[in-house]
Amino acid sequence: MTTYDKMRIILSLTEATDFNQADIKIESVGNQSIKIIHPCGCYFVQHIYAGKIIARENIDQAALNKINIDRLFFAELCKQHKDIAISQQEEQQ
Ligand SMILES: [Zn+2]
Repeated sequence: MTTYDKMRIILSLTEATDFNQADIKIESVGNQSIKIIHPCGCYFVQHIYAGKIIARENIDQAALNKINIDRLFFAELCKQHKDIAISQQEEQQ
């Protein structure tokens, strides 16, 4: 599972009807990254100063987005959401 897939799932948690921003924990990791932790255990680390690769015309934008997401984020899913993600991937195959 790619960072892109994990981030898509983690960000979708904020769309839940019972989502409450106050339940989110934010920790600093070193002095250039922050860790955002959901109550279920899913979390991501955002590298604030990672910067972005800017596109040249002939580069596939979707591929470039995935590269930038890999540079900016580290993500881990909790057991519950990992199981959901794996079963969704199996359905798509
Ligand atoms: Zn989770």
